[in-house]
Amino acid sequence: MVNVYQSTATFASQINREIGYADAHCHINLFDEPFKVIENAFLSGLEIIVSSGGSAKDNKEISKIVGQRVFGVVGIDPEHIEDKNSVKELKGIIESNRNIIGIGEIGLDKKVATESKHYEMQKEIFREQLELAESLDLPVVIHSRKALDDVLSILGEFKIRAMFHFFEGDDKDIEKMREYFISVPPLESSKRKRAIEKIGIERIMLETDSPVVGKDPTYVKISAEIVAKIKGFDVEKVAYETTENVRKFFYI
Ligand SMILES: [Zn+2]
Repeated sequence: MVNVYQSTATFASQINREIGYADAHCHINLFDEPFKVIENAFLSGLEIIVSSGGSAKDNKEISKIVGQRVFGVVGIDPEHIEDKNSVKELKGIIESNRNIIGIGEIGLDKKVATESKHYEMQKEIFREQLELAESLDLPVVIHSRKALDDVLSILGEFKIRAMFHFFEGDDKDIEKMREYFISVPPLESSKRKRAIEKIGIERIMLETDSPVVGKDPTYVKISAEIVAKIKGFDVEKVAYETTENVRKFFYI
């Protein structure tokens, strides 16, 4: 039988403890002093950081930075398809490091596709990495720029958990998103506002994409404020729910 008093007390202790934020997508290895950035983030209320790879160089650097509460995903993104031979190295990197918890960022980017062959090559590498993720039962972090329909169609060939980082779609796009997650950057946009209105909090994560977009992982609080304002929730609720989503999605 559930002890009502006990569970209420547990809940109270949970909401009294400081809410921890999760930055579901950043690039810690791109900072000059990554460990300083991590330390400052944890002192400022971050609970989890997921740093994303994209090139062969990034993937190697991330493996050296991950540690307690700092996780990594590795992959070859559409901007680095010249590194396509490194897809073969991903399995080894993942299996030798328990803090590497997924594959990313991977996907399609029409903006960097200079010719159709290039875009076809992006698709090939994307599929190859999805196969790997499916075989290892790992989640994927998706990079999709001006390519949502193609990304969704290829994803549909696999049984896979996916999170769309820096989601750029609107409310109509959300209808096509099946069970996938979206991640919200610290940047307002009217399109994304309509998307956030439409999707449930149980499928939202927060990110900074720092140092590319946010200055550092503490900017995740701005992402939380954006979601809180749109959803009409307390920032604390958004932080709690989105951190839970990150834990469930990445199995951490
Ligand atoms: Zn990124």
